[in-house]
Amino acid sequence: MKYYDKLIFELSKEGRVGYSLPVNQFPQAPEVPVQLRRAQPLRLPQVSEPDVVRHYTNLSQMNFGVDTGFYPLGSCTMKYNPKINEEMAALPGFAGLHPLMHAGLTKGALKVYQEMNKALSAITGMYAFTFDPCAGAHGELTGLMIMRQYHMNRGDMKRTKVIVPDSAHGTNPASAAVCGLEVVEVKSLENGRIDVEALKPLLTDEIAGIMMTNPNTLGLFETEIKTIAKLVHDAGGLLYYDGANMNPLMGVVRPGDMGFDIMHLNLHKTFSTPHGGGGPGSGPVGVAQHLEDCLPDIRVSGFHGNFGVILRAYAYILSLGKQHLRKVGQYSVLSANYIKESLKDVYKLPIEGVCKHEFVFDGLVNDGAHDDVPGATTLDVAKRLLDYGFHAPTIYFPLLFHQALMIEPTETESLETIDSFIAVMRKIAAEAAQDPEILRQAPHNAPITRPDETLAARNPVLKYEW
Ligand SMILES: *Cc1c(COP(=O)(O)O)cnc(C)c1O
Repeated sequence: MKYYDKLIFELSKEGRVGYSLPVNQFPQAPEVPVQLRRAQPLRLPQVSEPDVVRHYTNLSQMNFGVDTGFYPLGSCTMKYNPKINEEMAALPGFAGLHPLMHAGLTKGALKVYQEMNKALSAITGMYAFTFDPCAGAHGELTGLMIMRQYHMNRGDMKRTKVIVPDSAHGTNPASAAVCGLEVVEVKSLENGRIDVEALKPLLTDEIAGIMMTNPNTLGLFETEIKTIAKLVHDAGGLLYYDGANMNPLMGVVRPGDMGFDIMHLNLHKTFSTPHGGGGPGSGPVGVAQHLEDCLPDIRVSGFHGNFGVILRAYAYILSLGKQHLRKVGQYSVLSANYIKESLKDVYKLPIEGVCKHEFVFDGLVNDGAHDDVPGATTLDVAKRLLDYGFHAPTIYFPLLFHQALMIEPTETESLETIDSFIAVMRKIAAEAAQDPEILRQAPHNAPITRPDETLAARNPVLKYEW
């Protein structure tokens, strides 16, 4: 029987102990009143320390993390997170803070907020940030609330629509809808950029603004951004920047200089906080000077966001400094272009040319389909990668292509790692051409192979029933 076939409850044997409690430092502590005490002992598994250690270590190996391998998940910036950031966030003076503490005791933390405000403003060209939002999508909602507030302050009540490009991240239209705004889609050109001519007629006096990602989710820089900014502003709208992936821009270009009025950052992507497990995150929102008044009105979390994440980002920024933050952008762009050019003869590249930190293939050039044998799909390539020790790229997103395979290597990978990824991707392409069935059966060595992902997300079984 394999380790993952047994749950910790099934390993339980009466009388085994795998913990040691700290010594009680409070001998004077009052006893728990009888009526509040547990009537029956808690049904915890009774296991020895090695059982516990092995169980949880094995569980951790069943997942794929950036600490165990290359994780080129496009749009997610799964870069390596330096451990020094963890140490800084764990400093007792910070970790022991309580949000309701007297202001006199939290000056260090307030200073961190202040310094981060300055650093992020310098990196993005914004005027001021709020750190309340706890995720990227939360930042989008906050930013759109600021956008609405701005129009309402001016008595301009008609502006209830927001323009979103068809290449946008799914959270953009979702946040707009949650904010009570109507989404108007603008099409992309063949070259993956916003169609400026298609944008013009959309810019009516009902438009609150536009949400954009630049480089967009295809990893392509919107070269017409200055023209777009002027058109939107002239029509009375604002520009919202989805800065979840600031990686390629840091120290090179600033959204504020491109003409954006409001933006969010994902500290848990660009600024190296471990993520992917659902939190905690941080999506600070920055505004241009003319919107500063709209910031304090809008509180979206109980306290000031996830301070630990902000601390990690602060440590990250300080440890790199201005000069090396710029290299993050340059190396992430170099890595992406290197992979793209090394694989484009075996994977379909729908849009040629230099990309930024990520790019999209549209499936295999030769998927091995013949007679009545179906070819290998993007899902099959993704599953096969697991057999070779790599996490899959983002698949079937963005929706502009049927077999999208979105690769973002980030700047933290060595040339050796990137070269071995390229070699494996080529090997998989060769396997597909010869015998697509190998891919269709993959992964061959993972504890779980092809779960129903929708069912797993909607009805997760999180509890052991006994
Ligand atoms: C990740 C991402 C988001 C959403 O961020 P969350 O923290 O997951 O809510 C928004 N936009 C883009 C482009 C992203 O990559």
